[in-house]
Amino acid sequence: MGMHFGAKTYDVSSMYPSMSIVHNISSETINCECCKTDPEAKILPEVMEEINKELEVPRPRGTYWICKRWRGKFSEIMEDLLQRKEQYKTHGLTLKEKALKLFMNSGYGTFGQVYFKYYDPRVAELITGFARHTLDSLVKFVNDNGGKILFGDTDSIFVAENNNDDAIDIISEAKERFNVKLVRDRLWKILFLTSNKKQYVGLTNQGNVVDKGLVGKKNNQPVYFNEVISYLIDQKVVEIFVNEGPKLAISRMLDYIREVYQTLDEKVSRDHDLEFIYDKLAYSAKSSKALYDFKQNGWQKDIYNEICADSGGTVELAKSKSAANLVYRFWKVQNQIGAKGITVTMHPESHMLNIRKYKEELWTCVKPLLEAYGLDKNELSTFENEMMKTQNTFQSS
Ligand SMILES: [Zn+2]
Repeated sequence: MGMHFGAKTYDVSSMYPSMSIVHNISSETINCECCKTDPEAKILPEVMEEINKELEVPRPRGTYWICKRWRGKFSEIMEDLLQRKEQYKTHGLTLKEKALKLFMNSGYGTFGQVYFKYYDPRVAELITGFARHTLDSLVKFVNDNGGKILFGDTDSIFVAENNNDDAIDIISEAKERFNVKLVRDRLWKILFLTSNKKQYVGLTNQGNVVDKGLVGKKNNQPVYFNEVISYLIDQKVVEIFVNEGPKLAISRMLDYIREVYQTLDEKVSRDHDLEFIYDKLAYSAKSSKALYDFKQNGWQKDIYNEICADSGGTVELAKSKSAANLVYRFWKVQNQIGAKGITVTMHPESHMLNIRKYKEELWTCVKPLLEAYGLDKNELSTFENEMMKTQNTFQSS
């Protein structure tokens, strides 16, 4: 978590599917008749250990061996796909490359699905076991050589930059010891990791801001939240960390967020500024079923009731406006007396918005970033309290 000046990311997204290629994993090569007595065919005890970590009842040593004589069909197919994927990459066909990546990754996963025609959990189990063993060994290699792993998941490994970098040649290690190709995909000038490491943002050596998974950037969130987050991870703002130091960068950020909350308060509580509310504060959500099929309380039911009222009781009309797979826009309102207990509305002009809810949800977008930018628990909670305070100076008219 936190801020790291200088880091590298290695792409390990092909690691799992590669295992079937490197270790010849395929239904017919696992526990084959021809290699039953060949000690060389037995899988490593370390890999068995990895597999057993996931199982309630551990499998005994010697459970698995893999054919040394014949090439497995699945392994062959995966190799072909991997080659194509790399060709796409060389030619800059990013979309095709991604499609193949997804296809390969789901390709081994389906072996663990009971309804798959070629269901064989051993394939999924061995691939996962080998991949974990390989990744763990690479992490250990980095640590043993004085390097530091910041974060790793099934897509990437993040390594802190180090004076001793030449000694930690993780790419060669991967190639020589495990026969897998590791690709360095990014160099970071500065990298910010949140406590939920699936969300991060950083400035690359080329000067681009790259982010992943930030809640506030999702398009179901109000535009206002998207704008705030975009500002906070803007290149110019992130560069302040590098050029003028974290202290100044953070103090400017906090000032900006204060302003953001102030504006929210003014536009919603004081002015009930409809233009702002319409344009910037709508949530949107897609409904998988028709709205009238929802019996429980929730946004779907609230909106359907409003559509009914708008349709003057004409059920056919109401139903035609409440179809499945549409994206609905709505606003969060105060659950007050006289509003029949609704929590969302399509008519913000006739309701008070739930300012507290907006503030809280904006906070859930902003918080991971502030955390990544280096605020500690105390600072975060103090600042959160400051932001949640209702501005009693306003009297809603
Ligand atoms: Zn064999």
